[in-house]
Amino acid sequence: MAEQRPLRVAIVGSGPSGMYAAGHLLENPAGTFMQGRLIKRVNRPIEVDVLDRLPTPWGLIRGGVAPDHPDKKKMSRVYDAIAHRPGFRFIGNVNVGESVTTQELSHWYDAVIYAFGADGERRLGIPGEDLPGCSSARRFVGWYNGHPDFSHLPFDLRSQRAVIIGNGNVSMDVARILLKPVDELRRTDIAAHALEALARSQVREVVILGRRGPEDAAYNFPELEELGDLPDTAIVVEDENAARAVLACGPGSAEKMQVLKHLLATRRSGSRRIVLRFHTSPVALIGDNRVEGIRIAPTSNPDAGNEVLTTGMVLAAVGYRGRSLPGLPFDEARGVVPSQCGRVMDGPNPVSGAYVTGWIRRGPQGIIGSNKKCARDCVEALMADAESAALPRQGTLDAKTTLTKFAERTTSTTSFADWQRIDMTERAEGLRLSRPRVKLTTFNELMAMVS
Ligand SMILES: Cc1cc2nc3c(=O)[nH]c(=O)nc-3n(C[C@H](O)[C@H](O)[C@H](O)COP(=O)(O)OP(=O)(O)OC[C@H]3O[C@@H](n4cnc5c(N)ncnc54)[C@H](O)[C@@H]3O)c2cc1C
Repeated sequence: MAEQRPLRVAIVGSGPSGMYAAGHLLENPAGTFMQGRLIKRVNRPIEVDVLDRLPTPWGLIRGGVAPDHPDKKKMSRVYDAIAHRPGFRFIGNVNVGESVTTQELSHWYDAVIYAFGADGERRLGIPGEDLPGCSSARRFVGWYNGHPDFSHLPFDLRSQRAVIIGNGNVSMDVARILLKPVDELRRTDIAAHALEALARSQVREVVILGRRGPEDAAYNFPELEELGDLPDTAIVVEDENAARAVLACGPGSAEKMQVLKHLLATRRSGSRRIVLRFHTSPVALIGDNRVEGIRIAPTSNPDAGNEVLTTGMVLAAVGYRGRSLPGLPFDEARGVVPSQCGRVMDGPNPVSGAYVTGWIRRGPQGIIGSNKKCARDCVEALMADAESAALPRQGTLDAKTTLTKFAERTTSTTSFADWQRIDMTERAEGLRLSRPRVKLTTFNELMAMVS
């Protein structure tokens, strides 16, 4: 006889991967898909609880994507529509691994999808990196986006020169935000404290260090191209060999080379500068009580580190890194939860009822859209297991009881209605100040909105 009790699934993380997973689970018709084709319709309702450690949803869309990328931020409208589907519930302010264990989740739900992203960071591993004035780009990004973990950080923007280590897309975001005229930033949802600090910023030059040559730079060409939209800003390559290679590139060469060639030709002068240094590695940060300079060297010869760039601000954009959750297998070398087709693996064996998607499955790379297919594969595996009765089902709690359990573990959880109230408040304040929104940026401010 057909099972009528709803299939209850928890998703840990409300970023793009978690929300796409929720979307695939709550798609109509639900069932087992193979290569995107429905091969078996599921014969019972599905209920999805999306949990997040923050009071607010959407992961890096709210706390990572640059404020001057409003089109990317608008992706949250898709997630908003998913959140309105029957069977969806958002439960914020639940830190899995702290307020509730992974073992408990696996008892309370039929299945758990882990989608908690990669919110750790790589270290530089050079002397002086803990000096004040040096920070990860991850923290700086969180700060200007009003992420409550970082909004209190005291970024000092009195240095005329900032140095960014690493030349990936995050580095491009950070360089843009540092040099963009504040009147342009005012039209974005950048956090108010960051807007105020950037209005007083003394930074006029951003040096971006890349270990390899311009043909192997980590940025994508659209992100590089955007630097050319910064008014009154010269773009310079301070490395004769690299500059020669760029200027010599022809129409058949990589797009990122052609874009850089165009920028070098068209953005020769300005009161602000972006200096791209290639084949260059950081050796040490220098300073007594805070950063005063950075010693750099050719990547091919780190011992030749005689050049020192004077700076009071160094941001390390050398990558995000997944963090382990107690009770869940973890691949330390790759910083991911090991998986096969979206099933969490413990050595050669799948962990019953546990699935993984997004950056914590693939590592911190890929754009928002990459998470859609990743989530679909994971949901396909889950649905196939549900149909073959491979999912553990004993002891699963109903929706009301689970909520009570969460409430016992945290001071207060947030619901989707609470998020909607936060959203409306932020937009209303934005309207008053002719801005898209003014974010609430501390746990206290956010939790004060809970009904
Ligand atoms: C600075 C930056 C800028 C970017 N800009 C762009 C861009 O312009 N365009 C683009 O396409 N892509 C961009 N990306 C990539 C995009 O953000 C990622 O592909 C996407 O966010 C990954 O989704 P995710 O769901 O795996 O992780 P995340 O978005 O990180 O979501 C993870 C969620 O899990 C929650 N969580 C973490 N730990 C726990 C826990 N223990 N318990 C409960 N919840 C937890 C977090 O609070 C978060 O909400 C950018 C990435 C970064 C870092």
